[in-house]
Amino acid sequence: MPAEPKTILVVEDNEISMKLVVAVLELGPYRTLTAGDAESGIRLAREHFPDLILMDLKLPGMDGIIATAILKTDATLKHIPVIALSGYGSLDFGEPLGETGFSGFITKPIDVRSFLETISGHLGGTPGP
Ligand code: MN
Repeated sequence: MPAEPKTILVVEDNEISMKLVVAVLELGPYRTLTAGDAESGIRLAREHFPDLILMDLKLPGMDGIIATAILKTDATLKHIPVIALSGYGSLDFGEPLGETGFSGFITKPIDVRSFLETISGHLGGTPGP
């Protein structure tokens, strides 16, 4: 029986990076929602309750770290894994990853194979015992 496709919200302001991420996700069994800034991303999360959120760190206005902190204070959204998307070499949260609310991180430019493995890993894509 085919599984229900999972919905992934991508919050990313760089159009080229967004197009690539969406194209790769749609190679997998995923539906995508897209937002170009943090406020739109939070609004879409509240409307659609995605299964996973990919969050760029550097966004116009509110950044991805603050947006993730807001998502994690929302009782209806805090269970959704948020994976940070970050440019190579700029992954400095200033605090341990676990304290940021992020479940993991992916560096850009993305590697297609490890990207999809990371996504499925955070969706509980491996069969349980
Ligand atoms: Mn950005």
